[in-house]
Amino acid sequence: MSGLFSAAFLRQIGWDVDVYERSAVELVGRGAGITGHPELLDALEASGAGTQELGIEVPKRVALDRDGRITDERPLRQILTSWDRLQRLLRATVDEAHYHLGWNFERVDQDERGVRVQFSGGRVEHADILIGGDGIRSSVRGQMAPQVQPVYAGYYIWRGAPNETDLAPDTLRSIYPLFTFYLPKRQQVITYPISGFDNDLRPGHRRFNFIWYRVADAAQMRDMCVDDNGMQHEYSVPPPLIRKDLIADMHKDAREILPPALLDALLKIKQPFITPIYDFTAPQIVFGRVAMVGDAAANARPHMGFGMAKAGTDAQALAKALRDHDDIDDALKAYNAERQPIGNHIVMHGRKLGTHLGVNLKTEEDRRMHDLLQSDGAMLDWIAVPHFLDAYK
Ligand SMILES: Cc1cc2nc3c(=O)[nH]c(=O)nc-3n(C[C@H](O)[C@H](O)[C@H](O)COP(=O)(O)OP(=O)(O)OC[C@H]3O[C@@H](n4cnc5c(N)ncnc54)[C@H](O)[C@@H]3O)c2cc1C
Repeated sequence: MSGLFSAAFLRQIGWDVDVYERSAVELVGRGAGITGHPELLDALEASGAGTQELGIEVPKRVALDRDGRITDERPLRQILTSWDRLQRLLRATVDEAHYHLGWNFERVDQDERGVRVQFSGGRVEHADILIGGDGIRSSVRGQMAPQVQPVYAGYYIWRGAPNETDLAPDTLRSIYPLFTFYLPKRQQVITYPISGFDNDLRPGHRRFNFIWYRVADAAQMRDMCVDDNGMQHEYSVPPPLIRKDLIADMHKDAREILPPALLDALLKIKQPFITPIYDFTAPQIVFGRVAMVGDAAANARPHMGFGMAKAGTDAQALAKALRDHDDIDDALKAYNAERQPIGNHIVMHGRKLGTHLGVNLKTEEDRRMHDLLQSDGAMLDWIAVPHFLDAYK
């Protein structure tokens, strides 16, 4: 997404941009929901991708108790969209001739005139700059700053997106139209409506985004990364290979822990999958003629759901810096000075919200935040905020 955003914004200031994607086939999401923060909507409009048929609007965020009664709520009109929809809108801004599937970045060499980028299979390209928008495990960052590594947060997510039509009438009536939280000790469940297959927004054809944060130490997570065939994976297991015993245990816990509507939604997920949570910041995001954007530059825990907005606003800031400076190196320095602290701020905010889960509380401030966020109302005050970067400086 950050690569596509970068191409769109740089093209607007007259640059020739090519996007090189490792995957040999067009990317599709796994029905992942994305929060439509105002910053994301602004970036989509400004990039030319637009916000047409973006998603489903919810009026507010609510918190539930174990019986499913609303304990607290905050009005927050927001459009919930999906990874696939955003990919489709942004992908349409880059013409075929400049979008290259099946190109795997291997290394970059640079001098004062530009970069020489090497891809798998011996392919080489020359350019004025290289933008590393290759995600949390960025190979570009791996070469420029190998010491910067994502850190496991000590918790993970069970996720899925059941079909709207499969949900019980009570679930559809009570929580389907809302952005819902259930916050038992050391856990968080979050749900909201998203579009269906092929961005279908018609009632009855949509899906329901379901996220359940749970705590697991590094050893437990390593065990969860052993698949159904006994093979150990490093970061996560492809959904169809997730062990049946893990799913059975999760369902058993859910029957004891979740309010009825959330349990109904969880049990309707055909293929739940696990995402371990990592984050990191880097002391710099520009290395000569190489600039990092999006998750490759800094990656926050997904509590705010701001990753896509960050990808768009990083790309926008990079294009603005290049437009406003005659010298490319000065422009990249200005981009670094503006966006590195913002990336840092977003990551720190994610860590604050993550203290709710009670993992690795190191400082007095961590413990204070943890205690504060045990109240549903306080969590909503911190998380149901538009423009949180301004609200929590
Ligand atoms: C559980 C969870 C929930 C989330 N919820 C939200 C949300 O509600 N809202 C939100 O805005 N964000 C959310 N995010 C974050 C969001 O998904 C990311 O921030 C966003 O995808 C960042 O885009 P990116 O382009 O920087 O990185 P990525 O999406 O990771 O894209 C990187 C691309 O680079 C390619 N690539 C990697 N290596 C190479 C290589 N060597 N050569 C060529 N190409 C390569 C990859 O194939 C990929 O296409 C969530 C994330 C998680 C994990």
